[in-house]
Parts: sequence; C-alpha cells; structure tokens
Amino acid sequence: MTEKKKIAFYTLGCKLNFSETSQISRQFPSESFEIVNYKETADIYVINTCAVTGKAEKKSRAAIHKFKKRYPNAIIAAVGCYSELKSGKLHAIDGAEIALGVSDKFLLPQYFSNNDPESFTNTEEKIKFSDKNFIPSYSAGDRTRSFFKIQDGCDYFCSYCTVPLLRGRSRSDTIENTLVTAREIAASGIKELILTGVNVGDFGRKNGEYFIELLKKIDNIEGIERIRISSVEPDLLTNDIIEFVASSKKFLPHFHIPLQSACDKVLKAMRRRYDTGLFADRVKKIKRCMPDCCVAVDIIVGFPGETDYDFEETYHFIETSDISYMHVFTYSERENTQALAIREIVPNAERTLRSKRLLALSEKKKAAFYNENSGKEKYVLFESDNDNGVMYGFTENYIKVKTAYNAHLINEIKKVKLEKNGKDGIFTVKIVE
Ligand code: SF4
Repeated sequence: MTEKKKIAFYTLGCKLNFSETSQISRQFPSESFEIVNYKETADIYVINTCAVTGKAEKKSRAAIHKFKKRYPNAIIAAVGCYSELKSGKLHAIDGAEIALGVSDKFLLPQYFSNNDPESFTNTEEKIKFSDKNFIPSYSAGDRTRSFFKIQDGCDYFCSYCTVPLLRGRSRSDTIENTLVTAREIAASGIKELILTGVNVGDFGRKNGEYFIELLKKIDNIEGIERIRISSVEPDLLTNDIIEFVASSKKFLPHFHIPLQSACDKVLKAMRRRYDTGLFADRVKKIKRCMPDCCVAVDIIVGFPGETDYDFEETYHFIETSDISYMHVFTYSERENTQALAIREIVPNAERTLRSKRLLALSEKKKAAFYNENSGKEKYVLFESDNDNGVMYGFTENYIKVKTAYNAHLINEIKKVKLEKNGKDGIFTVKIVE
C-alpha cells in the first residue's frame, strides 16, 4: 500500500481564487492524497497566486520563495494569475517546480495522476487548456458560506487593469448548469452563497441570458438561505437588480461596487463605463429601497493625470455620499495596460498621502454606518472558527459580530441585538431568538 502524499494549498488574492483553490483540492483523490494545512509539513505545496497589482505580484513571489526555503524537498506548484503573467518561466525565476496559468491550474491533479510527483515533467506538453472554457468552482472550506464562481474573465479592458490579459474574455456557464452547481452546494449543508467572478454582472451575456434571470432562479434553491453578490460593476447594477434584492428574502442588503474614482475626467481616462451621476443614482436607489443596506466601494488613488483638484472631487463625493466604507488601492503600473501611455505621473509620496486620507475617511464612514445599526436587531450566520472562546459571524448588511463560542451555533442563523461596537470594530451581540 503506497503511502498517501501530503498536499497543502495556499491562496492569495480574490474570492475567485479561493473558490478555485477549493475546487482544485477536491479533485485530488483521497485514497492517494491527504490534504493538510499549509502550516504543516507536506510533500506538495500549491500556491494559487495573484498579479492584480505590483504589490500582489511581490506577495506571490515572496510566498513561493518562503515555501521553497522552508520545505526545500517539497514540490512547489505555483498556479494562477502570477504564473499566467510569467507564463512558465517561473520554474527558473522563482524555484517553483510547476507553473500553471489561470485555466491550466485545473489540470494540476493530472500532473500527479499516477501518484508519482517525479513523473510530472513529461506531462506538461501533452495537456493544454484554452481560456475559452468556463470552469465552475466553489469553496467549501468553512462549511457555512461558499464563494460560488459564476463568471470568469472580462471584456471591459479598463485602462489600468491587467485582469482581462490574465483571465481572458468574459464567460459563464448556462443558468441551468449554474443551478446544478448551486444545488450541489446546498446539498453540502452550506447556507450562504457569495456569487463571485471577475465581472459578475456580465453573467450570461454570451449565452443570450441575463444576470437578473439567474438571481431569480437561484433565489428558489432549497437549503440556501442567504445570498450575497460579491461585487458588481455600477453600469451593470440595474434598478431591476436593486428592486429584486430588496424584495427577496434570501438576497442580502449588501453591495460592493467598484467606483474607482469620483471624478468624471479620471473615470473617462480609466475607460470606466459610467459617470458619477449614474453612481450617485444607484446609491440613492439602493438606500431608498434598503435604508440599512451596506454599500462598499473600491477606489484607486494616484491614477496618472489625477490632479489635487480631481482628488478633492473624489474625496468630497465620497464624504457626502451614503457609502458605508471603502477599499482603497494605490494605482500600480501594470504591463501592457493603456494607462501606461498617460504621461502625467502622480508621485508615489502623493499617492500614499491620498491613500491615507481616504483610509481615514473610510474609517469615519464605517463608524457612522455601524453606529446607525447599533441597538438594532439583525440576523447573523455564525461561522465555525473558535478564536480563543469567541466565534464570529456577519449580519445581513455585512456587519461583523462576535459572541462566546458555542458549537451549537455553528452554521445557525440567529436573530441578535447589536449591542456594543468593540475597539476591534466588531459588534458584541445578544442572541434574541
Ligand atoms: S471591469 Fe475593468 S477593472 Fe474590472 S476586471 Fe474588468 S477590466 Fe478589470
């Protein structure tokens, strides 16, 4: 009886990457492989990498070096976006024995199919994947919530973004096939789905289907009690979708919308497909339909050509909008993107200053949003982690809460009263039923 190989997975980047790592790990046959935590000693380490920004690239490279240094005899497989960007040269550069790009990463189990990692070298040439295929995936790690990949790739080509170059053109499966996977997730006992992708709102377009149709169908899946839309482009977040989410018992009042800038001149240079007028209307519509809704936005600071005046426009817009908090990114030059041609570069020191100001503003907005919800009753899905006797969960409108650990609460949806917002920005709650 040959001994099982120990394999560990380490994921960087977005929710999509987490769903794909989970999918790949489930393809390793349990009779030959034992999945262990990446902090343990293993024979194989799979690092699912990210390359969305220069910082993400650095983190991916550092992770590969760290695992190789710590486990020199193990096989390091670097897969995903950073590997796609470096297209196979990785082997030489970063000491990873295997380098597989965005689509090819799903072939990884076949490299070890005969349970002898040494044999993988002559497999490489034989099997290739095209990025036209949509490969469904979902995460099943924490038993309560699942990142459910429903769409991949993007056709938008915003001038700063490298994602379409790495993940390919926008694609998704049919509504029918997507529902089959959703039922599979429901059958595993998971109660919350997070609909995930690169440009989620573009779901179905190439199959002559519509995102809103999918939402209405997924709403009827038995066993799934809560559904979040991970992120949706402003121009694809239609009033129909907002009204549907407001009327649904399962779709949650929480939107993550990539705004990127609140200066129309900069939005144009970014090749974004909306202006601040449209964005403001969306936020007003959301808050009219769901006053307690969480509206989180992404912002990029320091985009080439962004003047002090432009930045103040962005700052003022956000300050006066009903936004709950922000994710702030500093503009990062990416190979082969159109923004590289813009000459007016914002100095790094200025980018850092602007980022700091927006992060401070985001803290203020978040504190105000949390205070508005203080004392209110909400429903929380409790998660499985036991953090020194404390367990966590999220309300419908994405407020993080904590309570004393109780195994009976795991994967349970309970009505709670939001009592005190702690220094850690997490609410303590009292369970009311
Ligand atoms: S919508 Fe724009 S920013 Fe988002 S993935 Fe597509 S190209 Fe990149």
